[in-house]
Amino acid sequence: MATNRTFTMIKPDGVENGHIGGILNMITEAGFRIVSMKLTQLTVADAQKFYEVHAARPFYGELVEFMSRGPIVAAILEKENAIEDFRTLIGATNPAEAAEGTIRKKYAKSIGENAVHGSDSDENAAIEGAFHFAGREQF
Ligand code: GDP
Repeated sequence: MATNRTFTMIKPDGVENGHIGGILNMITEAGFRIVSMKLTQLTVADAQKFYEVHAARPFYGELVEFMSRGPIVAAILEKENAIEDFRTLIGATNPAEAAEGTIRKKYAKSIGENAVHGSDSDENAAIEGAFHFAGREQF
């Protein structure tokens, strides 16, 4: 059953480049309610586990290094049809292919450093959200 929740990260490039405010503004303007949020940092082991599905891909090492190199903003978001609507809001993985009006079109620089993460399923959103936030931190 759909939970109407998704999990997002403003990735290290988005934080380094000063885009936390701009990205959060796009998220809230699009009608997402913030359930949980914090500034945190993934360890190398956290990033390896998070992107385990890509372990065989040639960019895996680069991806793990990038995702663990500095702070991220982690957040749980709520909205009807959250998973799909948030994927639409962030845009294509490669910013060169991202539609106008999407977060990646505006803030991402490359296919690797693409500013923001959005869960791809209700199941993964629940796992990813629970990794960062205890029940008492979900509002
Ligand atoms: P997403 O769901 O749109 O984030 O895309 P994927 O699940 O396919 O990939 C996960 C993340 O891996 C992406 O958001 C990028 O940060 C990274 N990634 C994907 N493809 C590439 C690539 O070809 N090169 C590099 N360096 N990183 C990539």
